[in-house]
Amino acid sequence: MSEGHGYLDSASWFQGKYSMNKSAVANVNNDLQGSTASGSMVQTGETEGHALIGKTMCCRFCGTGLEHSMVNLGLSPLCEDFICQNELDRPEVFLPLEVLVCSECWLVQAREYCSNTEIFDDDYGYYSSYSTSWLEHASRYVDMSIPRFKLDADSFVVEIASNDGYLLKNFVDKGIPCLGIDPAGNVAAAAETVGVKTRVEFFTDELASGMRDNGEQADLIIGNNVLAHTPYINDFIAGVATLLKPEGTATFEFPHLMQLIEQCQFDTIYHEHYSYYSLYTICRMFDSVGLQVVDVQKLKTAGGSLRVFLEHKALGHTPSESVAAILAEEVDAGLRDMSTYLAFGARAAEVKNELLTLLIQLKREGKRVIGYGAPGKGNTLLNYCGIKTDLLSSTCDKSLHKHGRFCPGSRIPIFPPEHIDEMKPDYVLILPWNLQREITTQLAHVRDWGCKFIVPIPHPLILD
Ligand SMILES: [Zn+2]
Repeated sequence: MSEGHGYLDSASWFQGKYSMNKSAVANVNNDLQGSTASGSMVQTGETEGHALIGKTMCCRFCGTGLEHSMVNLGLSPLCEDFICQNELDRPEVFLPLEVLVCSECWLVQAREYCSNTEIFDDDYGYYSSYSTSWLEHASRYVDMSIPRFKLDADSFVVEIASNDGYLLKNFVDKGIPCLGIDPAGNVAAAAETVGVKTRVEFFTDELASGMRDNGEQADLIIGNNVLAHTPYINDFIAGVATLLKPEGTATFEFPHLMQLIEQCQFDTIYHEHYSYYSLYTICRMFDSVGLQVVDVQKLKTAGGSLRVFLEHKALGHTPSESVAAILAEEVDAGLRDMSTYLAFGARAAEVKNELLTLLIQLKREGKRVIGYGAPGKGNTLLNYCGIKTDLLSSTCDKSLHKHGRFCPGSRIPIFPPEHIDEMKPDYVLILPWNLQREITTQLAHVRDWGCKFIVPIPHPLILD
């Protein structure tokens, strides 16, 4: 038997990594065995709102007890917790991954097992600037917003979850004062190098109140793909209302729950995403803090997103027709009918069966399949389907921070994109299917040796 990490070492590593106390560790174990024992996590900076392990969860917006499961994806590790070479002989923590739906406000939400301070730490793996299409999206947004909101050198723009400054640097270039707020120190440091001033903090109402008292209210607040990452949603939206000038606008982009359901995008569910939003729920939530959705746009990003424009209700503007139109589409899509949510799990299972059938068939034919991308959604997909290196020998990603690491759970190794040219696979499985067009364009040359692409969602499909 080799030396190394015995059980005790593993347990202490587990505790160190996840900042739980002993009873919380015990309760995770109990929870996995079906116990209803309750316990508490160490509160690392927060003072409210934790849905405690083993307890009945209440809606994090309206407080209603949650009784309806939309989908249970089994056990999965944190999907951005990429494994280093020297961690390969250590255990990994697998946590239940299930989303529930509130029968009162229709907020779809996952139980919170790990605090957001553990997810968005200084080892956070996601850098926005690695996606070319996302950079272009950000640039177009800035070009739209400056005339629409009449921004100039006297304005103040705040982006919540500003990541590596990919968006705000466009405002810096145009001489418009701005500030980023992001809790992940490593990505914030990258933002500072491109001239984007960044506060390394979580956005809270307390932070917003301090800024307001300091005369730092915003003409424009931007939050892209941050609402899902926020467990303390009521405090967060209160902070938006606090920070926004009386005549200011806030825009939020978020993956549209209607697309998640219609396109069977179950792999966008992971522990780092606490909540999944319809326009209906967004309107209700912001209404509770005195803000109203005055306009909404459909976006193609992240598999189908919405961008909402919020103002203080006191301004009295009439919402655009698109707000009522998309609310009506949601009703037509069954988003206010519990049976729609309850049918989702079986659809996810069907995708799993189809993808496994395809990969097993290709393996039996002696075909070589490797992945492209190592996004969070890829890790949900791989772990839910039980895909490991026997079916997918490796994957590759543009992000330097992932090279030499391994996907959590599946332990599939991650290489730079040149790996594809060295391996000359027969098939490339595109894990970030939302970037399908960008990736198939970048990798157009692989067709020269007869390689084909596979997209897993909404149904596994070989692209011709
Ligand atoms: Zn609710």
